[in-house]
Amino acid sequence: MLCKIGDVEVWRILEINAPFMMPEELFPTAGPDVTKIIETHVKGGICLQSGRLILPVQGFLLKTPSHNILVDSCVGNDKTIPAMADWNKRSDTRFMAALTAAGMSTEDIDYVLCTHLHPDHVGWNTRLEDGRWVPTFPNARYLMPAADEEVQRSRNADLYVESVLPVIEAGQVELVEAGHMLGDHVTLLPTPGHTQGHVSVKVKSGEYEALITGDTMHSTVQCWYPDWHFIYDADAEMAVASRKRLLEEASETGCVVLGSHFALPSLGHVSSDKGSFRWED
Ligand SMILES: [Zn+2]
Repeated sequence: MLCKIGDVEVWRILEINAPFMMPEELFPTAGPDVTKIIETHVKGGICLQSGRLILPVQGFLLKTPSHNILVDSCVGNDKTIPAMADWNKRSDTRFMAALTAAGMSTEDIDYVLCTHLHPDHVGWNTRLEDGRWVPTFPNARYLMPAADEEVQRSRNADLYVESVLPVIEAGQVELVEAGHMLGDHVTLLPTPGHTQGHVSVKVKSGEYEALITGDTMHSTVQCWYPDWHFIYDADAEMAVASRKRLLEEASETGCVVLGSHFALPSLGHVSSDKGSFRWED
């Protein structure tokens, strides 16, 4: 178990922990010293051999008193993602092994909550069975931001065909808006920018609280530099505004923050620091 938020157990479901892309590609407005700045603030944030940013891909499993909720379903196996060689047509057991280690079978998951519809957050929504894409979690309701579903439906590309449409056709999808509450402990927070419908996740139990960032941020260095644009933010300025709002909430409440792509352990706290923010593991 990664941590406990009141009555809610949080388990890390890790699929990938590997170098991704060069920092100057990922943060194009961060200036020439971007790697040095990340090395200063993020322990183990840069791969020493390749100079690339270490980017874990993971979901978080929330075991609440009433539901088992998987927040984000990572890259998955057999998915068509030619733009990302490391994610394309994978065949890997790590994600499923992590679920098993958390005491879960695929039948046990009640909800799959996608913070947004990008390939590293929807992959295990489905799996290939006899050449057909079928929902991986047969008993789950899948919650997806309505705005993202609309965008992906109009593109009708591999992501939609392989990881979204089969779940819709199985009648398991609920399109949701930010503000949606899932049971007594989980609320979706609007953090648009990375994608139009992007949500972060608030977990609350008694006086205890946690925030799951989703892709509002990709590195803890963005606590110090929330203005840095991230190359895959659909609306960079909107993403900056959402990032700052989330950081403000995290620093005001002092809650646990779980960063979906943060260097492991991906868990810590945010405090305000001279007009910006600071991260503490
Ligand atoms: Zn992502």
